[in-house]
Amino acid sequence: MNTELQGIGMTSQRTRDRLVQRLREAGIRDERVLSVMASTPRHIFVDEALASRAYEDTALPIGFGQTISQPYVVARMTEALLEDGVPQKVLEVGTGSGYQTAILAQLVPEVYTVERIAGLQDQARERLRKLGLRNIRYKHADGTWGWKEHAPYNGILVAAAPEEVPRELLEQLADGGRLVIPSGPPGQQRLRLITREGDTFKERFLGWVSFVPLRAGETE
Ligand code: SAH
Repeated sequence: MNTELQGIGMTSQRTRDRLVQRLREAGIRDERVLSVMASTPRHIFVDEALASRAYEDTALPIGFGQTISQPYVVARMTEALLEDGVPQKVLEVGTGSGYQTAILAQLVPEVYTVERIAGLQDQARERLRKLGLRNIRYKHADGTWGWKEHAPYNGILVAAAPEEVPRELLEQLADGGRLVIPSGPPGQQRLRLITREGDTFKERFLGWVSFVPLRAGETE
């Protein structure tokens, strides 16, 4: 890895290891997820001025009024997606900085990611290219509608919260597929794991969370 990616001081390997230690203490158990989070440079996904805070377990601003998800939440959502085995094809809604995309792309064979703000997705694409991750396909669109051309997906991960789970996302789940999604009114969002069995959907509550809203309609 080159020096920019590797990091020094507050962005070094030692700092990443401390974050992973905190994730373990917070209850993350999946070693595959922990190992990928230990090796992924989160500091390149935030503005340089915030790089020294990249390994704190908090969300940080990434411009356009959006935030990079909190590491614990990224770990928890990824762990839930992988719990029953590695899904072949995963749809991510809300590329944002691309950090969650980077974690997924190192754990599953194919990632499809949709983002409504072009400026964010362009930056994310450049970072993920630098990391050498090539199993990702990008779409600039409203992810409320999923990405029908490549459906069905064995996993869908949504990084912004709608008030209600969009029907299209349920429809684009493969049989046995898993959807990890925050939803509910602001201040009362539940993180849900929804599993499809034929035409039945089973739901498990994973915890209370705070995400930016999933904005339907116009893209920017
Ligand atoms: N996983 C990202 C999270 C970014 S925040 C990260 O860690 O950086 C959520 C993202 O969802 C924002 O970039 C926001 O623009 C995007 N988003 C919101 N509504 C959306 C929609 N309807 N379709 C696609 N992306 C959306």
